Amino acid sequence: MTEFLDEISSIVGAKGLLVGDDVRQRPEDWLGRGACQALAIVRPVSTAEVSAVLRACNKARQPIVPLGGMTGLVHGADAGPNEIMLSLERMRAIEEIDPIGRTLITQAGAVLQTVQEAATEERLQFALDLGARGACTIGGNIATNAGGNQVVRYGMMREQVLGLEAVLADGTIMSSMNTSLKNNAGYDLKQLFIGSEGTLGIVTRAVLRLHPKLVSKNTSLIGVSSFEALIGLFSLVGEQLAGALTAFEVMWQDYYRLIAVDSGRHTAPLSGDHAYYVIIEVQGSHADEDAEQFARALSLATDRGLINDAVIAQSEAQSQAIWNIREDIAGLAGALMPLCTFDVSLPIRTMENYVGNLRLAVRNRWGDTAKIIVFGHLGDGNLHIIVSVGDDSEDTQREMEQLVYAPLQEIGGSISAEHGIGLEKRNYLGVSRSPAEIDLMRKLKKSLDPNNILNPHKIFV
Ligand SMILES: Cc1cc2nc3c(=O)[nH]c(=O)nc-3n(C[C@H](O)[C@H](O)[C@H](O)COP(=O)(O)OP(=O)(O)OC[C@H]3O[C@@H](n4cnc5c(N)ncnc54)[C@H](O)[C@@H]3O)c2cc1C
Repeated sequence: MTEFLDEISSIVGAKGLLVGDDVRQRPEDWLGRGACQALAIVRPVSTAEVSAVLRACNKARQPIVPLGGMTGLVHGADAGPNEIMLSLERMRAIEEIDPIGRTLITQAGAVLQTVQEAATEERLQFALDLGARGACTIGGNIATNAGGNQVVRYGMMREQVLGLEAVLADGTIMSSMNTSLKNNAGYDLKQLFIGSEGTLGIVTRAVLRLHPKLVSKNTSLIGVSSFEALIGLFSLVGEQLAGALTAFEVMWQDYYRLIAVDSGRHTAPLSGDHAYYVIIEVQGSHADEDAEQFARALSLATDRGLINDAVIAQSEAQSQAIWNIREDIAGLAGALMPLCTFDVSLPIRTMENYVGNLRLAVRNRWGDTAKIIVFGHLGDGNLHIIVSVGDDSEDTQREMEQLVYAPLQEIGGSISAEHGIGLEKRNYLGVSRSPAEIDLMRKLKKSLDPNNILNPHKIFV
């Protein structure tokens, strides 16, 4: 070990530092591909240790990459052979739940699902939910400002964080563990760290906002024949179900056929003939009334010709089976590899044209065998697009990025709806952010991390 790693070992102890084979046997990404390239993985157990590690790194100009559950999808936690990773895997404690103030205090390495379950035990709920819930961490969720399945009702991670503690590049501990919904005393510094992908500080603890646990849930999978009907349905359920609408997730026909009908991985609740498939979920506190109101809204939508066919889940198992189709990302990866994935946002009214034009452009370039799978959190204006043309070389990826990203500027869309920028999208930051915005981002980075040790190369070229 080098002198520098000896110093780190003296801070975190032997158990807190992995090198050599212990690093190599860890995967490079969530799909388990490749071997981790990092020089070392540091595993502190406390904020004080994180602070001491960063102080040492800053002094030695040692680049350091924060690591959560490694489920990020833009190579935001990639580390090269000269970089060390700082994993929060030994900082997973849920420290406190306040059922009256509806807050939960946790260390940042806690896995999202554990936090959800801890809230449920207190008859409360933590509102962030996404397919990677069993592996992603609160620190990663904060650093990426994660979105997920319930944004249409509760907002993104930003809306779930009341306070946090972060360690700056020079080791300063910035404790802003606010527990109140209201605190307008000067700048709201936590916002600097939410969505900044570990480039401005390492989040070590957080105060999360909880909501009352809702006892009733109604889930439906709906087949829709046109985009016009889809928008009509979104408006109608928005009006009829008011604040209860928790999810409005859409799968284009290709997605549904591939995963629900052809893959053999699921029992398809509806035939594969509809143009779009929508999962609508509502949650409330009066089981009987909620079910009636839900059925009434769907019946009204059927009368107005907005629904072709629908199933309403009659049990938690049936609801889960519907969600399993939407969340079968491993199934998609298996069927479509090699593939290029995109996460964009755009005004809902422009989606049909945008997707139609993209299909045309991809087919013109790669022919009819190219597969384009579209799905996403339509209620949030967020689409996920997977393009599979039998090749994911860098050249192909670049060409495809042009096709996907270029039209977004004109229609006011974003190259990243919820996954962040990481290494993957940094060449396109200027499509969605003005020169003045990027300049201010760089100034912030420079002033908080003048030696550029924290997750260098991410977000900016
Ligand atoms: C199957 C699947 C489904 C997904 N669905 C969604 C979805 O619906 N919505 C969505 O938004 N995302 C989704 N994602 C992406 C991913 O789960 C989120 O980005 C998640 O928030 C990443 O958390 P993580 O702990 O895995 O972070 P990592 O992947 O480990 O890291 C992500 C970024 O955060 C930084 N980071 C991690 N921890 C910290 C910390 N403590 N302090 C500072 N920086 C830190 C890393 O350096 C990196 O830049 C999905 C991913 C998968 C695999």
